[in-house]
Amino acid sequence: MINIVLFGPPGAGKGTQAERLVKKYNLFHLSTGDVFRYNIKNETELGKLAKSFMDKGQLVPDEVTIKLLISEVEKHPEAEGFIFDGFPRTQPQAKALDEILSEKGTSIGMMLALDVEEEELRQRLLKRAEVSGRADDADPKVIQNRIDVYKNETAPVKEFYKAQNKYIQIDGIGSIDQITDRLFAEIDAVIR
Ligand code: AMP
Repeated sequence: MINIVLFGPPGAGKGTQAERLVKKYNLFHLSTGDVFRYNIKNETELGKLAKSFMDKGQLVPDEVTIKLLISEVEKHPEAEGFIFDGFPRTQPQAKALDEILSEKGTSIGMMLALDVEEEELRQRLLKRAEVSGRADDADPKVIQNRIDVYKNETAPVKEFYKAQNKYIQIDGIGSIDQITDRLFAEIDAVIR
């Protein structure tokens, strides 16, 4: 069993790559962004609250996001391991994740951090907007805000995993297949 944090700025390819990793390693894909979007679609109270932050490109508050993460982990006791996509995005979230996994007798095996430069992210997100239907992909101002929030609030989370010797940087430029192969190689080296 292995738990992986798939990390990187918006538009780095976390969702696309997570789909491939779950298939190969039989893991459960837990994307907090996807859970928020599901709640928005179903017009739940959580959805309404999350939307007010997401539409501006801001983070949903830790208190709400951590509670959601815990309940999602609890919902899947059968999972052989998780890929956390889009979580943790702050230091308190990283601490909370360690705590909940440790209560379950497990831990994060590694953080795989996709590295993509800013201009490429902007172009990818605008292109994605044509098919994703995501309001937060369509507005250049919101995109910039998400990138800035990543740089200021989220990128420092790398240090948390560096301190635990779990941080692995992956070149996020190239074809989708090339990047998948890089991720597979790093995971295989750890689980073998
Ligand atoms: P994503 O699908 O990961 O790009 O997330 C879309 C949006 O959902 C983000 O811009 C945030 O507003 C919100 N969100 C997703 N995950 C988190 C998180 N771990 N902490 C706070 N906000 C989050």
